[in-house]
Amino acid sequence: MTISPRRIVEIIEPEPVIEGAGVRLKRSIGTPTLDYLDPFLLFDDFTSGNPRDYEAGFPLHPHRGIETVTYVLKGEVQHRDTLGNAGSIGAGDIQWMTAGRGIMHEEMPQVRPGGIAGFQLWVNLPAKLKMTKPRYQDIRSGEIREIIRETGARIRVITGTVDGITGPVTEIAADPTYLDIFVPPHTSLTHPIERGHTAFAYVFEGEARFQDGMGTNDPLVSHAHLVVFGDGDFITVMTGPDTVRLLLVSGLPLSEPIARYGPFVMNTEKEIEQTLLELCQGTFVTT
Ligand code: MN
Repeated sequence: MTISPRRIVEIIEPEPVIEGAGVRLKRSIGTPTLDYLDPFLLFDDFTSGNPRDYEAGFPLHPHRGIETVTYVLKGEVQHRDTLGNAGSIGAGDIQWMTAGRGIMHEEMPQVRPGGIAGFQLWVNLPAKLKMTKPRYQDIRSGEIREIIRETGARIRVITGTVDGITGPVTEIAADPTYLDIFVPPHTSLTHPIERGHTAFAYVFEGEARFQDGMGTNDPLVSHAHLVVFGDGDFITVMTGPDTVRLLLVSGLPLSEPIARYGPFVMNTEKEIEQTLLELCQGTFVTT
């Protein structure tokens, strides 16, 4: 079989949104432009140097039927839920939270002189796991292996396998890859992505081109933009005089119907109604 590069199908300009108690975010998935990139429901960039953008945080709110993935580059997010789980996500840490049948939690970015930087991704759960027991994978920065290539490129492997190194986040239904990649100037990096998986890159520092193998004019993608790739076997990132830093994320599409209502993502409207009923009756979170 012929090996082919994944071509860019869309370059998304993040949209400003206000969430939680008044946090200003840049959203690239979960918007009118890109409603759903199966299995990815939402992608937010909460980076800001201004405390007014983030200090209000995300007070107590529920989730059901999804996973929320919080990756912090700078600063700190404190969290706690009504089941008694609590902790802090610091620089370089990641939290992969499987909400399953129900989590009621708060997520509060802490005001720091350097501000905050990071991302939240929502990954859909298949029908058979929507009502699974909630699960946290809290990974400290030191547990994430960084691969350094001869070119000087660096890859932090959060989930998935690169050069025989498997990331610490495991047993996720979407079989995801989540990589934090740095590529130095005037170099390139090729990375295989399993055919049939949905894939995107989020360029958050510098700029780069993604080679499509056609020798045509690959567009220059500068920060901050989200690149959606078509199907194929690999991507190649090429830098010019600038460095680039990006997240490369892929996962297996579920191809199931979705019924979405804010923080709840189920398969049918009836399941959403049931969820709202449980919230009213105070039976939403069960141990
Ligand atoms: Mn949340």
